[in-house]
Amino acid sequence: MTSYEQLLNELRSTALLGSCSSVLGWDEQTYMPPGGAEHRAAQLSLLAGMVHERATSPLLGELIVAAEQENPSSDPDAPTTATLREARRNYDRSTKIPRRLVEELSRVCTLSQQAWGEARKQSSFAHFLPWLEQVVALRREEADAVGYGDGVPYDALLDEFEPGMTAEEVSGLFAGLRDELVPLIAEIVETGRQPDISILERRYPIEQQRKFSLDAAQQIGFDFNNGRLDEAPHPFCSGFGPGDTRLTTRYDEHHFPGAFFGTLHEAGHGIYDQGLDPAAFGTPLGSYVSLGIHESQSRLWENFVGRSRAFWRRYFPAAQQAFPESLQDVTEETFYACVNDVRPSFIRVEADEATYNLHILLRFELEQPLVTGELSPSDVPSAWNEKFTQYFGMTPPDDAQGCLQDIHWSGGGIGYFPTYSLGNMYAAQFFEAARRDLGDLDAQFSKGEFAPLKNWLNEQIHRPGQRYRANRLVQVVTGEELSYQPLMKHLRDKYSELYGL
Ligand code: ZN
Repeated sequence: MTSYEQLLNELRSTALLGSCSSVLGWDEQTYMPPGGAEHRAAQLSLLAGMVHERATSPLLGELIVAAEQENPSSDPDAPTTATLREARRNYDRSTKIPRRLVEELSRVCTLSQQAWGEARKQSSFAHFLPWLEQVVALRREEADAVGYGDGVPYDALLDEFEPGMTAEEVSGLFAGLRDELVPLIAEIVETGRQPDISILERRYPIEQQRKFSLDAAQQIGFDFNNGRLDEAPHPFCSGFGPGDTRLTTRYDEHHFPGAFFGTLHEAGHGIYDQGLDPAAFGTPLGSYVSLGIHESQSRLWENFVGRSRAFWRRYFPAAQQAFPESLQDVTEETFYACVNDVRPSFIRVEADEATYNLHILLRFELEQPLVTGELSPSDVPSAWNEKFTQYFGMTPPDDAQGCLQDIHWSGGGIGYFPTYSLGNMYAAQFFEAARRDLGDLDAQFSKGEFAPLKNWLNEQIHRPGQRYRANRLVQVVTGEELSYQPLMKHLRDKYSELYGL
């Protein structure tokens, strides 16, 4: 066996072990009784230690060196080169962070998340502040351990979620987006047009919602022979490995969009997962590119397909049949306007497709100075409110609806937020390319035909795994560098028509 083959075997075994944690983690969020928490934490902690051990073992390091010597390739896009590049990146990143720091981060983040939950409930930032200080300090230490070349410490944190992306690139993209998006939202608000979104808060029996969302997930191409849909308080998608991808959602009888668009979103993640090459499981060529690319797949199905006029031309009659008491007197046009309502609001996860990006810009603009130390954690609430007022024209009434709303920072996820808006940009650019390649997508959607788009995504984006980094993948698939412009064009076209701008 060559060293390269031995390396692949080693990576596969580690991934197999890691996928056992995914099963346990999924069960913890769905069916585990409360009494199982302590034992489950012990199981997960043991597995995490075993995975870390394997991922940082000297044996793995030697195999990577030997495989590199065996394969002196000059083509950066060649599958073998890509496999070695990503194996090396993961190994270097894991071994550069001292074990003491890994354990300290894990301990502090668990406690910090608990403190955050309490702080948000009481809307008391003071309760969370000492934990935020520790998390920022530890992540800064991590950035220094990982290194950031000629860049800034934030690069090292961003790199965990979006390999290869830098703060400078994100800043450039976000600045362009901000300069065009802020005036577009102002224009929409000035029209004074507000559809009657209370329609979406009427009664939508949960059993009917379940059938309707499941059917839509199946129609767009999620394969239920190789996956399931269950309920969880915080919806997510978890891929256990080939043939088994789990989606979760949550239902509210008086809020139709939550479960429906949530299911489409998670199904988009699931379709990516199901589209990975099963033979390459556990190796870079069978793994997703980055969180931003993952998010592009969920948002593409949720927003670009699921919130399109063509989609509802097909599905509104079915929705009326499924929910006669709530939709009998509603027109397709009104319903379409309701699911695309743009309205500044305090909470990110409830935001519409346009204002959502401003929530992300704000977080990105606070995270960077937090990491450099220019912004002290104690000044986060005032900095948050100032920026929020500047972007949204209103001030959060309390910190629970402001800087305490998200779990990310408490769990150490500094550098994570940008991947959401990058996901929107990737989605828009991919969707534009799909339109070029596949012709009239709207005509296809209005007939319920989603297979051409799904197959195109499988082939272009899912199947190559990590063969290309995100920015290269965008170039290969669309022929252009990543840009905020396709996203702006999508938003401007949609809302010009809807709001008569
Ligand atoms: Zn997502």
